[in-house]
Amino acid sequence: LSSGTDLFILIGPPGSGKGSLSELCIRNLGWTQLSTGNLCRKHIADQTEIGKQIDFAIKSGKLVSDSLVTSMVEEWLQSQMGKVPAVILDGFPRTVAQAKALDEFLKSRNQTLKLSIIRLLISDENVVSRLSNRYICSYIECQAIYSIGVGSTLVPKKSMICDICNYVLIRRKDDEESAIRERLLIYNKHQHDLLNFYKSAQYQVLELNVEKPLSDVFESFKKLVDIGFKK
Ligand code: ADP
Ligand code: ZN
Repeated sequence: LSSGTDLFILIGPPGSGKGSLSELCIRNLGWTQLSTGNLCRKHIADQTEIGKQIDFAIKSGKLVSDSLVTSMVEEWLQSQMGKVPAVILDGFPRTVAQAKALDEFLKSRNQTLKLSIIRLLISDENVVSRLSNRYICSYIECQAIYSIGVGSTLVPKKSMICDICNYVLIRRKDDEESAIRERLLIYNKHQHDLLNFYKSAQYQVLELNVEKPLSDVFESFKKLVDIGFKK
């Protein structure tokens, strides 16, 4: 990462729209994103050694080990050096151990990198309804996110087909109700400590209400990060 690169961390429950918001930033702002969830699913699809180790945890909605995810992220960050104005981390860090490891990594590389933490606010009830309407593209290099919910702006143009690559849309295994509940439990267990870690390390945590249409969320996001930078 070059010293001019901004690093955004999205902290929000499953279904809060981290991935959808990231996709908009990529398409409209020329940023790049790392979704640790997408990366994990790619390992499983490719049947790598890592994929075999994490398959069960992912299906049942549990976290994979801190050390494994951390090394995936560090490798990716290293490869992004100076290439883009900003990068978004979607789904990492999820635990204090991961946040500490990231902090160490950044300190050892570049002191001047701007780190912004954005907390996405949404009720558990809305999360469950969103995830039960969620579909993703089955092409593992794409994994674009869709929703068949009434009034959603993420409905695919052709029924059950990805707008971008024409692959069929599928449900994620961990979007079944029992796994959703497990993921929410885990998120709620970790988020408090994670936010406290960032607050005590003197990082500003910006809050974004995401209980509105995605286009409105994106507009608010752009305003929020501008304001954040001026402070
Ligand atoms: P969501 O945010 O909707 O729960 P993700 O696609 O971000 O889904 O992640 C899916 C799964 O990938 C998680 O339930 C977990 O098993 C694994 N995973 C992703 N990121 C991490 C992480 N930082 N630490 C541990 N496990 C992770
Ligand atoms: Zn696709």
